[in-house]
Amino acid sequence: MPNTLFTENFKTQPYWWDSTPVFKQPEKSLPKSIDVLVIGSGYTGLSAALQTARGGRSTLVVDTNAAASGCSSRNGGQVSNSLKPDYENLRKRVGESIAKGVLKEGLNALKYMDQFIHDEEIDCDWTRCGRFVGAHNRREFERLSEKSRYTDNELSLPFRLVQPHETRTEIGTEFYHGGCVYPDIGSLHPGKYSSELLRLALQAGVQFQSGCEVTRIDRQNDAQGKGFVVNTRRGQLVARDIIVATNGYTGKLFPGFKRRVIPIGSYLIATEPLSAELMQELLPTRRMIIDTRKMVYYYRACPQGKRILFGGRVAISETDPVNSAPKLHKSMCQIFPQLGDTRISHSWMGFVAYTFDDMPHIGKTDGLYYSMGYCGSGVSLSSYFGMKIGQQVLGNEQGDTPLSNVSFQTRPYYTGKPWFLAPSMLYYRLRDRIPV
Ligand SMILES: Cc1cc2nc3c(=O)[nH]c(=O)nc-3n(C[C@H](O)[C@H](O)[C@H](O)COP(=O)(O)OP(=O)(O)OC[C@H]3O[C@@H](n4cnc5c(N)ncnc54)[C@H](O)[C@@H]3O)c2cc1C
Repeated sequence: MPNTLFTENFKTQPYWWDSTPVFKQPEKSLPKSIDVLVIGSGYTGLSAALQTARGGRSTLVVDTNAAASGCSSRNGGQVSNSLKPDYENLRKRVGESIAKGVLKEGLNALKYMDQFIHDEEIDCDWTRCGRFVGAHNRREFERLSEKSRYTDNELSLPFRLVQPHETRTEIGTEFYHGGCVYPDIGSLHPGKYSSELLRLALQAGVQFQSGCEVTRIDRQNDAQGKGFVVNTRRGQLVARDIIVATNGYTGKLFPGFKRRVIPIGSYLIATEPLSAELMQELLPTRRMIIDTRKMVYYYRACPQGKRILFGGRVAISETDPVNSAPKLHKSMCQIFPQLGDTRISHSWMGFVAYTFDDMPHIGKTDGLYYSMGYCGSGVSLSSYFGMKIGQQVLGNEQGDTPLSNVSFQTRPYYTGKPWFLAPSMLYYRLRDRIPV
């Protein structure tokens, strides 16, 4: 580890914010009433708002903080089909037809991203660079080989195996025992993507207020009509429909949702700029990278190809990026010992939302529309299901999804504080270390 781990201008904010600072709307008075109130201005909220505004509904998006300053401008920018359960497990839980429909939604989400970015001419460094998945031991490589024999191309993305002796064609390390490449997976600049989404929403007539936490929601069902009376830090308004787009930042305002999502910290660092030769040695194909460990690490080159952005779940409750940075640096150097002397220029974190069945959930409950629970891989899913929930508010068929048929589970005694994370993370960490 270098004497000084941090560069002189080290920042505890996302690397992405250097080129795309998050947007704070100057204070304006809130409208007295609105057709659609969207709570949360990440990809889910902005994608939903774009639909409702284009569908002719007056729409206000509010956020406690700046626009998209939750996960949506903090993530690693890896864009995949993302749905975690495999077909056999899902079929046992929800039956064949829903299982197939749900898994196809993952593929649809990736297709949607490609089409949406292209059609709306979104400038966000989008590229279909592919993803290399490194097998962290021999058994995992065998699992991948087996999977390659029975993969159903209708339900999952095509991939090809990378034999152990070919690993260095993909990545400059001895850490992995081969792996596989998913050529269709893509990448983007999360800051640019979120600010472009905001631009499109504002152009469609969406109103936005930052610094506007929603603190209370009451049903209104009297002579004045159906809907909700909403209190925010900036005043009160009446909303006919509400979309909850708070994902890993879902707080006590929504006890029902809080019992159904598990907030987990995800952490990222950016290295100082590296030489072109070193970048070529470490990441010759410029693909996105993850590995087969249960405590997964995800990393990539920045869009200009000069730095490495390295992320993972290194802590349970740490929220100070100064403390998570050395842990990530250590994990990065296990894979790339070449980076032992490399300093860190940025370190940051955000809260993703897991669910008890590893699936996102979308629908309407107690009169509130919602979409959340992307289990750490939400760039495509939040954009796609954000679009869907906006369409559901409009009452359009385009909002239909097989996921509406899957119940949003909780567990007895769970109220939003994930006491079980510490033992499970310890177990997974130990399991990942077994050298098979
Ligand atoms: C470090 C990190 C790396 C990641 N890497 C990847 C990746 O490479 N690929 C991938 O697919 N996914 C990744 N993700 C996950 C992905 O970023 C998220 O799934 C996605 O951005 C979720 O978007 P969202 O709009 O649902 O939630 P968010 O973007 O988190 O937005 C929720 C918003 O709700 C607001 N809010 C909450 N309560 C209130 C309230 N009461 N009133 C007003 N506003 C409120 C919050 O302030 C927040 O801005 C990563 C996440 C993190 C943190």
